[in-house]
Amino acid sequence: MGTASDIKLIDENGLRIDGRSPTELRPLKIETDVLDRADGSAYIEWGGNKILVAVYGPREAYPKHTQDIDKAVIKARYNMSAFSVDERKRPGPDRRSVEISKVISEALQAAVMVEQFPRAQIDVFIEVLQADAGTRIAGLTASSVALASAGIPMRDLVVGCAAGKVDGKIVLDLGKEEDNFGQADLPMGILARSGKIVLMQMDGDLTEDEFNQATELIMDATRRIYEIQREALAGKYRAMAIERGGE
Ligand code: ADP
Repeated sequence: MGTASDIKLIDENGLRIDGRSPTELRPLKIETDVLDRADGSAYIEWGGNKILVAVYGPREAYPKHTQDIDKAVIKARYNMSAFSVDERKRPGPDRRSVEISKVISEALQAAVMVEQFPRAQIDVFIEVLQADAGTRIAGLTASSVALASAGIPMRDLVVGCAAGKVDGKIVLDLGKEEDNFGQADLPMGILARSGKIVLMQMDGDLTEDEFNQATELIMDATRRIYEIQREALAGKYRAMAIERGGE
């Protein structure tokens, strides 16, 4: 979070730097089954973010000491490609990607019926091709679609969404400038139907009142994002039906 006071992020009409209203999401689209070799996959474009997710499994967890005798372990690996940001990013894991992989793994663990696959692992590879703020929530949203497209039993889809504070106002889904120069960012992961929060992090400061406002914006947007996820999965089944019809 920067503090550049000379950068105006909300204009006199209450519109944001990219013309959005405070409650508007950036353009969002999701496609499933974009990779032939993976068991499930999804591609998401959310604002300027472009992220590919591949799912493999469930299969026997390896190394063996990572096995859980009661349930499957979800191993999400978040990776930013070298060309995903303005300055070439040094390839390989860093503290940030290890942290994001961990919080996404935990959020997905709550959505998948992991108890059906003791000793197994499910790999979720999240490749950020282009980053534009909010990659963890975009990656999480796409991961949940990729898992469902792999046919892995799930109790619910996880929706990722963030809200934050810019120029003293609470707004939904921060863009890059807002993330850089805003006062707070609150990314969340929510189980779509139950509303249970499975990921929550915060960068910057919010009062209790602001936090409640931000959460409300996120919960409202969750429904819209869930519809897009479901539409992406329905598209898959429509395409399968057409294929079968053409045989
Ligand atoms: P998130 O992408 O989930 O919002 P951060 O708040 O850590 O996570 O990052 C915000 C944005 O900052 C990223 O989406 C990306 O555009 C940019 N960013 C993150 N890491 C780097 C990096 N190593 N080099 C350049 N830009 C980065």
